[in-house]
Amino acid sequence: MSTLSSQFWCEKAVELSLTHKVPETEAMARGRTRHKELHEETAELIPVKVVSIADSIGLGFHNMLVGLIRVKEKGQTRELPVFGWLSKLNIPLFGHIDELLVEDDRTKVIDHKTRKSDRMPSHAQIRVTEFQIMSYYGILKTIQSEAFDFRRILECYNLDSNSTFTDEFLDELGPNEKPLEKNLLKLTIMINEAAKIIPELSKNLEISYENQETKKHIGKHNFKFDAESWKRDIEFASQYWLGERPAMLVGERNRWKCNFCAFKSGSICPKWTE
Ligand code: SF4
Repeated sequence: MSTLSSQFWCEKAVELSLTHKVPETEAMARGRTRHKELHEETAELIPVKVVSIADSIGLGFHNMLVGLIRVKEKGQTRELPVFGWLSKLNIPLFGHIDELLVEDDRTKVIDHKTRKSDRMPSHAQIRVTEFQIMSYYGILKTIQSEAFDFRRILECYNLDSNSTFTDEFLDELGPNEKPLEKNLLKLTIMINEAAKIIPELSKNLEISYENQETKKHIGKHNFKFDAESWKRDIEFASQYWLGERPAMLVGERNRWKCNFCAFKSGSICPKWTE
């Protein structure tokens, strides 16, 4: 999901990141650490070692299932893995929802962002996250309606209805750490059931900002899911991957973004020769 969202920051940067290594910045590392802290506030994290692709996909399914059960039982979960399908490109979609929180009998999708300063972000930054959260809302809605067939994910990885976690993976887990179901397809049926019994999804979505140094809460950006604009964005993003148009560079109004871009220093991007 983050690749698609990043297209709405700069599509050329997404394309260049496919062929050039992007070094992790300090801000990215801090953001990752903060997400782990927030996750640990709601769940005990157990390090595990996967030994097969079935273990890896199954672990994502398991974490999604227990996260949805946690929403039902405790009214909150964080770092929820989600799986969907982008029909336009016929590819799977993966992502992590920062938080699902039950408020006034509705389940709200929330994204947490850390910032270097106490200022709220620009519209350009907010727009990227808005698309990402709307996609999470869309994916969850599709799972709830059972319109998405998880077998497509299994097929992508040469797995099928008989695929299970490996014994080697299961043996390293303690008695209280085993997945709720060994068979991957059965796990997805449990996900469909769990997704249906959480409180109704709220169309009101939220981005919460805090200072990465002081952890001071800076503010919230609330907005509504807009099916039309979300579909338009999906359509636009897909055009690039279908080869219908080249990657777009930022326009003159957004040229300031280039000052923060990893491809600025090496002058890899043609924007620097314009
Ligand atoms: S330098 Fe500017 S146009 Fe080029 S990839 Fe980076 S942000 Fe995009």
